[in-house]
This record gives sequence, structure tokens and C-alpha cells, in this order.
Amino acid sequence: MIERLGQPLVEPIFEELAVIGVGLIGSSIARAARHRQAAGRIVLADRSIETLERAKALRLGDLVTDDLARAVAHADCVILCAPVGANEAIGRAIAPALKHGAIVSDVGSVKSAVVAALEPIVPKHARFVPAHPVAGTEYSGPDAGFATLFVNRWCILTPPEGTAEEAVSRMRAFWEALGSHVEIMSAAHHDLVLAITSHVPHLIAYNIVGTAADLEEVTRSEVIKFSAGGFRDFTRIAASDPTMWRDVFLHNKEAVLEMLGRFNEDLTALQRMIRREDGDGLFALFTRTRAIRLGIVAQGQETTAPDFGRRAAETDEPVK
Ligand code: NAP
Repeated sequence: MIERLGQPLVEPIFEELAVIGVGLIGSSIARAARHRQAAGRIVLADRSIETLERAKALRLGDLVTDDLARAVAHADCVILCAPVGANEAIGRAIAPALKHGAIVSDVGSVKSAVVAALEPIVPKHARFVPAHPVAGTEYSGPDAGFATLFVNRWCILTPPEGTAEEAVSRMRAFWEALGSHVEIMSAAHHDLVLAITSHVPHLIAYNIVGTAADLEEVTRSEVIKFSAGGFRDFTRIAASDPTMWRDVFLHNKEAVLEMLGRFNEDLTALQRMIRREDGDGLFALFTRTRAIRLGIVAQGQETTAPDFGRRAAETDEPVK
């Protein structure tokens, strides 16, 4: 696994990197940046003393602090890794302390709302390059992170118009050093694409597990006992962090509602096929959807191992 992250860089991309919010994503960035020596020095900040103590114990950074302004004072790159709803307050706290030329970035799963919240706050002498690494797990906190989280995953950059090309190139180089493929698109396009590939699937998982939980009184033991029939795979997604996902839905409302409208129309069509016993229609749809799965495997975003690759992953110790 270490080999997959690549050898340490000859020269760091950033002299000093500040990561604010040392959870799954923040701690994974710190671990990966350290492994690849993509930053000369790593400073970590968080609001919770417990998280900061864990970050110290895990030796995730050179300096660990709850003082956000102190954390960014010498950084040439600052990455916001807290839930999306916290970005504006964090932006206000760090803005006066940012050094000349510093790049401010983030990892939020929604982009238009992040740009709207942070663009007016980031001072003129700094540069703003929003990012979203499309990688994660259902776990949270500094212990959940691992250095290879971003390897072979996509990272989407959504620089607002007029962003200095040099700042975008450096963020691209940074994410590539962490093992990611980088794509650049507008924040609005990102939000639409992610609504269908990530946000709506999470909503469906939350909904189906919620429905089953309501039925649980009648069939308590059966829901767990027969979960391998498909339900179990939804429970993994529905175990994702409640704060993070509340913020995603509140901040990508329009795109999610649009995709949900399309989803409901298609669900109604499926309902009709079942009622009318339209076997050909069902077969044609399921053949199409199977091809999408094969395409995801072909592009290296999933393995062919049975059981959603989970058994293979369990024996594959991630780099900490
Ligand atoms: P996480 O594990 O819960 O970590 C978030 C961290 O941010 C926690 O340590 C939290 O502190 C801290 N925090 C919250 N508010 C803060 C504030 N005001 N100031 C400083 N620190 C603060 O969450 P995560 O999964 O890493 O997600 C972080 C971001 O990554 C989110 O924006 C999410 O949209 C994005 N993202 C997540 C995934 C995923 O699969 N999880 C994938 C891609 C992108 P406490 O311990 O006090 O709560």
C-alpha cells in the first residue's frame, strides 16, 4: 500500500500546510502529505480538545492547536476540513491571519454554497481554490483516517473565475502527490454531478434504513438476520456522519431536489412495470444498470471481489 502512494517528493509543494478539522479527511490529508513529504511542515487545528489530543498522540502534525489564527499564520496552504456548515465561521476566524499569497482550499462535498460563503471572506492577498476529494468512508474522526484514502480517487477542483492559474496548478500537484486524479469543473456542475452520484444515494440509504427501523418492532430480528439480501449494503452508507450529511443536504438543496424529482419519476415507471408485469422492461433496465457497475470496476473505482470488495478490504491493512 505504501508503494501506491509513491516515493517522497524531492521538494515539498508547500513549505507549510495548515489543516483545519482533523477528522477522517483532515487526518488522511495530514498522513498522506507526511508520507509523500508534500509539505515541509504540517499544522493541525480543531475545535475539540479531545480531537487535538488524539492528533498529538497519533503524531499527525508538527504543531497541533485550537487557535485557528495561529494555525494559519505561516501557512502557504490552508485546507478547511470541517463540515461544510462550519466553513464560514472558520473563514472569518482565519482571514485576518492569512499570509500574503496563501492558498485557501477546502474538501467540502458541496461546492456552490462553499464558494458563496468563503469567496467574499478570503482576503485579496490570498488565493481561493475549492476542492472535493471524492473519497471517504462511513467513519469519522482522526483515528478513522489513513494515508492511502485518496489513492486512485478523483479530486475535483472548482476554482472561481479569475483564480490565479499558479494557485490551481499547485493544488493540482498537491492532490496528485496524494495519489488522486484531478479534474476541474464549475461549482454548479460539481453539485449536480455529485447530487446524483453521492447525495441522492445517501438519501435513499438513509430513507430505506429509516423505513426498516420503523418496521423493526414487527420484524426486529429478521431485519438484521436477513440483511445480507441487500439491506446491509445500505446500512453502511446510512452509518455516515450525521453532521456532515445534514450539512450536505442543507447546502446542495436545489441540485438534490432536482435529482430527487427525476428519481421519483423513474421509480414511478418501475412501479408501473411491476404492476403491468412488464418483464422485458425490467430486464432491459437491469441489464443497463449492470453495465454501469462493470464500467465502475473497469475504471478502477471498485474491485470485482464479491460482497462489494469488503472481504478483500478487511484483510488489506490501510497505511496509518
Ligand atoms: P469528521 O471526521 O467528522 O471531521 C470533521 C472535523 O472537523 C472534526 O474533528 C470536527 O471537530 C471538526 N470541526 C467541526 N467544526 C469545526 C470548527 N468550527 N472549527 C474547527 N474544527 C471543526 O468529518 P469528515 O468526514 O472528515 O468530513 C469533513 C469534510 O470533508 C466535510 O466538509 C465533508 O463534506 C467532506 N468530505 C467528507 C467525505 C467523507 O466520506 N466523510 C468525503 C469527501 C469530503 P469535532 O470533533 O468537535 O466534531
